[in-house]
Amino acid sequence: MLILVINSGSSSLKYQVLDTVTDEVLTSGLVERIGASEIKDHGQALDLVAESVSEVLGDREIDGVGHRVVHGGERFSKPVLINPEITRAIERLAPLAPLHNPAAVLGIRAITAKWPHLPQVAVFDTAFHRTMPEHVWRYAVPDELYSRYGVRRYGFHGTSHDLVTGLAADYLGIDRQNFNAVICHLGNGASATAIRNGESVDTSMGYTPLEGLVMGTRSGDLDPSIVTQLVMRGAFTAAELDTILNKQSGLLALAGDADMRAVTEGAAAGDEHAELALTSASYRLSKYIAGYHVAVGGAQAIVFTAGIGENSIVFRERVCAPLEVLGVRLDPELNAVRSGDVRRISTEDSAITVLVAPTNEESAIARAAEKLIRD
Ligand code: ADP
Repeated sequence: MLILVINSGSSSLKYQVLDTVTDEVLTSGLVERIGASEIKDHGQALDLVAESVSEVLGDREIDGVGHRVVHGGERFSKPVLINPEITRAIERLAPLAPLHNPAAVLGIRAITAKWPHLPQVAVFDTAFHRTMPEHVWRYAVPDELYSRYGVRRYGFHGTSHDLVTGLAADYLGIDRQNFNAVICHLGNGASATAIRNGESVDTSMGYTPLEGLVMGTRSGDLDPSIVTQLVMRGAFTAAELDTILNKQSGLLALAGDADMRAVTEGAAAGDEHAELALTSASYRLSKYIAGYHVAVGGAQAIVFTAGIGENSIVFRERVCAPLEVLGVRLDPELNAVRSGDVRRISTEDSAITVLVAPTNEESAIARAAEKLIRD
C-alpha cells in the first residue's frame, strides 16, 4: 500500500510517501512559510505536494493518508480512521496543543477537500501513554485543574516509544507482554518512558512536552514557582516565559548551542559551558532511568533511540556511567559501533541490557494507517 504521511505545522507541511510492503520512502519533502508567502493556505501547500508526488509515482496512486496528530487528549488511545466527528474532536483538543492540533485539522480538511474519497488515519503522540495508572498521570493539585482544564500528565513521542519497545523485545526474543524496559527517545525533544509488560506506565513529558529531560531548547523539569514569581514580579509576561522555557533553554541556554554534536565537541575541547550542559542533561536522564527501573519492577533493557540516542557515543556513555551502581556496564567497543540496526552496547554480564534501536515515526504511522485501512 502507498501511504502519504503528513505532519502539518501551523505554517509548514512535511510529507513522505511510503510503500508499506518494502518500507521504502518513494518521495518526501517540506512546504514552508504557508500563509507568509505565495502559498496562501494548507490547500495550496497540498497542491504542491500533489504535483511533486505525482511526478514520482507516475501511474501508481496513493491508497491512504496517515496524519501525525500531537494531542489525542483522554479520548484517543490508538490510531483512528478519520471522519468529520473525529476531525472536530481533534479540533476541540486545541486548548491542550494550541500550535499543533489546529494545524493537523488544517491538513486533514485540505486532504478531504482535495481527495474526498481517500481514507485518512490519525496517529496520536499521546495515545501510547493512555495505559499510565492514575497515580502517575495525576498531578497533586486541586481537582478543578483536571476536571475543568484537563491538567494531567499526557506524555508524548508515543509512536516512537511504542515502535522501539516492539523492536527491543523482538531483538531480545522476549514476548512483548512480559517485557519491562526504559526507552529513551532523545532527539531535539526528548523523553524517557517506563515500559511494564510492554505498556507505558510512566513517561517524563507531562501536560505538555516541556516537562522532564533537559532538551535542545527546552528546560525540562523545574520549580513552577519560577514562572509564577517572575510573572508576579513583572519581570516577564507569561508568553515571554513560555518562549524562554520552550525555545531558549536546555542545551542552548547552558552551552550556547542546541545541537548535541556541538555540545559534545565543545566539552571534548574543554569548553566549560558545553561540559556543564552535557553533564546536566546526562545526569537528569540517569536519574529518570534509575527511577523507572523501580517503576517497572526491574528493567530488562535500557534502549536509546532518535538522533542523540542512536548517534551520540559520548552521551550514552555519560548516561550509563552512574548506572554502574545498578550493575549496568557498557562495552566501549560495542558502544562505538555505528549501524542502523538494533544492537546491544552493554557487556554480556551487564545487569540490564543496553540497546540502541532506530526509530522511524513515519514508517510507524504508515503501518498504523495501512492496518486500519485494510481492516
Ligand atoms: P527531532 O526531534 O527534530 O526529530 P532528531 O531525532 O533528528 O531530532 O535528533 C536531533 C539531535 O540528534 C540533535 O541534537 C543532533 O545533534 C543529534 N545528533 C544527530 N547526529 C548526531 C551524532 N552523530 N552525534 C551526536 N548527536 C547527534
